[in-house]
Amino acid sequence: MTTRQLYRLRNPATGREVVMEAEPGEIYLDHDSGEPLEVVGKLLPLAPWPSRLPWAIENLRFCPWCDQLAQKDLNDCPTCGRRMGPLTGAERHA
Ligand SMILES: [Zn+2]
Repeated sequence: MTTRQLYRLRNPATGREVVMEAEPGEIYLDHDSGEPLEVVGKLLPLAPWPSRLPWAIENLRFCPWCDQLAQKDLNDCPTCGRRMGPLTGAERHA
C-alpha cells in the first residue's frame, strides 16, 4: 500500500466534481459520461501530512479522543488536534 493523495477532479463539460485518489500524470474519466476529468485541486489535510510514516495499517493507531486513525509517530492527532499521549503498547480493539 502506498500513500495516495486525494484530488478534486472535475468534468469540464458538466462541471460535476468528484473526489478520488489520483496519481499525477494519469488520465481519469467521468464514470457516467466517459469524458476526461481535469484536476482542480488537492484535498487537504492529506498533504502535507505531519507524519513521515507511510499510510499503512501497521503504522496507525486510533486517537483516544475522536477515534480517527493517526500515525503512531505523532503526538497530536491530525484530525482533532488533541494530544494523544505516548503509546502504551496496549492495542486497542473495538
Ligand atoms: Zn483525534
